[in-house]
Amino acid sequence: MINASFFGTRRSMARLRPVAILAIAFLTTGCQTLADLEQLIEWLRSGSALPNCVSSDCNCADFASQPDAQRVLDAFDGDPFGLDSDGNGRACESLPKASPQTANAPATGDHLLLGRPSNGPSNSLLLEKPGYVLSYNKARGTANWASWQLSPGWLGNADRQNDFRPDADLPADWNAVRPSDYEGSGYDRGHLVPSGDRTVTEAINSATFVMTNIIPQTAENNREPWRRLEMFSRTLVDQGQDLYIIAGVYGDQGRLADGTVTVPTNVWKVIVVLPAGAGLEAVDIDTPVIAVDIPNGDRLGGWGDYLTTVDVIEGTTGYDLLSNLPKRVQAVVESRLFQGL
Ligand code: MN
Ligand code: MN
Repeated sequence: MINASFFGTRRSMARLRPVAILAIAFLTTGCQTLADLEQLIEWLRSGSALPNCVSSDCNCADFASQPDAQRVLDAFDGDPFGLDSDGNGRACESLPKASPQTANAPATGDHLLLGRPSNGPSNSLLLEKPGYVLSYNKARGTANWASWQLSPGWLGNADRQNDFRPDADLPADWNAVRPSDYEGSGYDRGHLVPSGDRTVTEAINSATFVMTNIIPQTAENNREPWRRLEMFSRTLVDQGQDLYIIAGVYGDQGRLADGTVTVPTNVWKVIVVLPAGAGLEAVDIDTPVIAVDIPNGDRLGGWGDYLTTVDVIEGTTGYDLLSNLPKRVQAVVESRLFQGL
């Protein structure tokens, strides 16, 4: 069953290394079920979705940062690469907490610094983009959620590229939603990661216009509370804060494009506000967290009318958000309504 044709013709000899990793993971984990195997194949097919091991015997030295190693650990059952030697669920704890920044490049940040929400329903795929990470849901035809850092390094003078397009990173046999699928629907092509949060270069801005980052959003929602919260977020960055943002959708109030795109009933967003340059260790019980859950409807109020708690969003969506924070910190910041800064 494990042979080149299984993966389709796109898999060439150039991808022998992931195949070797697959083989080792397959052998060491036992990969007892087809679901395990599908998980492995999905990881390999997603290409850039996870940091690659440098060699087929993958170990902590292969990763630039602890979060990189953590994502590989989290992607497999049973720690097949031995990344969690003390078994506490944290991979390669001696590695740096974040990837070193490259001079003259946009800040890479770590879009999952505060934790990676579970991938959501089956048929979801983690996609790592230039500038953000998202969990794409094949059945919905939209993301489940997107996660990104917002700091001054992402903001510049690049023009809005407006080049909405199908996402070429999806597996070849998945339907790639097209911009025209939204035409005549009455819904805006709304961004999860806003164009305005990614203006450092034209390429980085363009990366927000793939249709996997787009949701069918009412004009009222997109142009009023959602947009105003986006603007407020950038104001915070101008005032010296770094933000860690997760935004997503839930619910079903109809379909577009012959049923291939689900219109969410609600859009939600969680924003963690940290001093510029601060890392995970700076998050404590006093850290401000903004959480909103806004109906995807008409006649809406301001975003402040839709403040809620992270706990409520977790309960509604089933995700564990901010999961990299200590439990006692999560308990406090996730149960508190935003009161202003
Ligand atoms: Mn928008
Ligand atoms: Mn949580």
